[in-house]
Amino acid sequence: MDLQEYRGVSIYAQQVDGQLSRISLELLGKARELADELETDVTAVLIGSNVKNLVQPLAQYGADKVIIIDNPILKDYRTEPYAHALASMIKTYHPEIMLVGATAIGRDLGPCVSARVATGLTADCTKLEIGDFPINPVAGKEQKHHQLLMTRPAFGGNTIATIACPNHRPQMATVRPGVMQAMKPIREAKAVVEEYDPVFVCNHKYVEILDIVKSVAETVDIMDAKILISGGRGVGGSDNFKILEELAAAIQGEVSCSRAVVDAGWKPKELQVGQTGKTVRPNVYFAIGISGAIQHVAGMEDSDIIIAINKDENAPIFDVADYGIVGDYKKIVPELTKQILNLKM
Ligand code: FAD
Repeated sequence: MDLQEYRGVSIYAQQVDGQLSRISLELLGKARELADELETDVTAVLIGSNVKNLVQPLAQYGADKVIIIDNPILKDYRTEPYAHALASMIKTYHPEIMLVGATAIGRDLGPCVSARVATGLTADCTKLEIGDFPINPVAGKEQKHHQLLMTRPAFGGNTIATIACPNHRPQMATVRPGVMQAMKPIREAKAVVEEYDPVFVCNHKYVEILDIVKSVAETVDIMDAKILISGGRGVGGSDNFKILEELAAAIQGEVSCSRAVVDAGWKPKELQVGQTGKTVRPNVYFAIGISGAIQHVAGMEDSDIIIAINKDENAPIFDVADYGIVGDYKKIVPELTKQILNLKM
């Protein structure tokens, strides 16, 4: 494999039902940073049927080039035609880096494609950067420069592993939704558009979709919330969450929770913040009766302002909090709600 043949940072621009998934914009934001450092271009690979109208937002959010693979076969996501499309694009265009969202679709597509193009893939990354990679860590002398260093939690979140792919291309990663930030859109930005036909030949791996049953979400997406009132085991029970809901209503926030709360059956999994839940970045994050375990903090530490309420003054949550209140939330939270409502009157 001649590594020099591989240039540019590509992202898989995931769309569902003709709507770009938010992860596509987040990947573009990170790809832009990496490409600027490598002095190269960002390419978005758009796969679907009748999706050409999505080119402009991709340009606005950082793509220099959009490769479109548009075919009725690609109307709904199916592993075989999508994997063929992306793998064929890689074999033709030779990107140096290929990023895919760690969504349900990306977790299926990414490994399948990396196997087809005979390269490695680091799954579920939370950090990506360009750096030097020691080939022989013991000697520490030989280094490969300008490598993609891919960081992800390992061993159940107890350690963090940084992985490189020095001998194969592209360097592939799936990236956790909510971790990277989309850039501010540039309204007048334009991208070079290229249509690519990977030639589809139906085979026995083309599953036939008989029906698509969509589940209707009963909760809001906490990743969109500007203010989150998050409760932990210290809230003490499902009914007590009413106290948090009253505060949320007073400040137009949404309620979220720790995993202990989900495990106890007090709140649904969609509201869980953390390593095995959602990564959130609200303007204000209230952590109420949450101890601040590393796996929880991983999902909320990038919030603009963190306010912790905990009766244990040594709780680790205070290490990441901007404001901390030591005491019983049952006294503090209703008083806070009352004061806020008074201010509004
Ligand atoms: P606790 O740790 O029990 O803390 C409760 C806190 O409430 C205490 O600090 C206590 O002082 C305080 N408190 C009690 N009563 C009151 C009161 N009346 N007023 C004020 N404060 C009070 N956790 C997550 O949250 N998200 C994840 O995604 C996640 N993923 C994980 C993945 C793995 C592989 C593993 C091993 C664990 C994961 N965990 C996750 C679990 C995590 O390690 C902690 O167990 C969990 O976050 C603890 O939840 P908690 O803070 O609500 O409960």
